Amino acid sequence: MAHASTRPYNFSAGPACLPLPVLEQAAAEMCDWQGSGMGVMEMSHRGPQFGAILAQAERDLRALAGVPDEFAILFMQGGALAANALIPLNLAHRGRVDVAVTGSWSAKSADEAARYALVQRVVDTRAEGYLDIPAPDSWALRDDVDYVHLCSNETIDGVEFQDLPNLRALGCEAPLVVDCSSNQLSRRFDWSRIGLAFGGAQKNIGPAGLTLVYVRRDLLQPALAACPTAFSLERVARENSMFNTPPTYAIYIAGLVFAWGLQFRWNGLQGLEALEAHNRDKAALLYAALDDSNLFENRVSSAVRSRMNIPFFLREPGLTDTFLAQAAQATPVGLLQLKGHKSKGGCRASLYNAMPLAGVQALVDFMQDFERRHG
Ligand SMILES: *Cc1c(COP(=O)(O)O)cnc(C)c1O
Repeated sequence: MAHASTRPYNFSAGPACLPLPVLEQAAAEMCDWQGSGMGVMEMSHRGPQFGAILAQAERDLRALAGVPDEFAILFMQGGALAANALIPLNLAHRGRVDVAVTGSWSAKSADEAARYALVQRVVDTRAEGYLDIPAPDSWALRDDVDYVHLCSNETIDGVEFQDLPNLRALGCEAPLVVDCSSNQLSRRFDWSRIGLAFGGAQKNIGPAGLTLVYVRRDLLQPALAACPTAFSLERVARENSMFNTPPTYAIYIAGLVFAWGLQFRWNGLQGLEALEAHNRDKAALLYAALDDSNLFENRVSSAVRSRMNIPFFLREPGLTDTFLAQAAQATPVGLLQLKGHKSKGGCRASLYNAMPLAGVQALVDFMQDFERRHG
């Protein structure tokens, strides 16, 4: 079995690294879950064993993320891109949606919503390269829209809302919809500002194939007629995520990750506060190294830098492939999947919850060594 000391550090943006104890527990339970004689993949989703797994996962997620009771938590499929369609199909009864375009993912969300509603981009930083987030009080918000959409952390561009906007204080009564795929469970969210949040699991929670939807119960209403029933939030909520077969194994792994997160400790803290402090420390370490370097750079405005996904570039772009190849071969353990998104090139380090500070230190040490050899 892989041990922490020999396992490479995996900086993938997603699907991404998971806590080793979770993988080890899943391996041990693969063929026989808790004496049931069955692996989790082999169980009826309506049987008592899986029912217990799902109920515990939801309880632990609610406790870990501090999700209030007025929100339903749905375990769905289709990923965040399917959510980009199913959200307007559920919420856009007036056919008017505002979207804050602050990066590649929110741009995609705006395009998809435009198939179902009249979309206004209340802000769009594409021409400036998605390097900053203009203050929400400068956005051209309308007050008669079905909802306002934003992406709390742009996984590709590395910009993150440090606080969610308070729409009501800005004179907008519409609910806020948040794509939190890549920073859910990385920090505390102010749920009083959120109407609906959603995210694929494969960035910070577990296997691909599971999508979390957190929806304020008063927003649950019959979907538009064109909406597939399996994507009706009201129906899925009514059936407790059991309208059809949910992604059972992915839910089980996510449940192990939630339990791990509740026990996680850092600097005298526990649970989400500990995860957040740990993430702050990891990101600060890497940004400081980037800002001190003459070879590597991050170009995002310092006030909105992501703690989760840190794109960086070599000032000599011709060295990028050498850097990536040598990083993968680094000793004592390799540094994997540091290649930047294909739309941006360069490099990207994703520092999700399961990435230890030691992994970031190993990356920083390797970068400094590389710079001495090539700078
Ligand atoms: C990865 C990602 C998506 C796309 O998710 P899929 O599961 O591939 O549909 C959307 N939004 C954000 C912020 C992401 O990080």
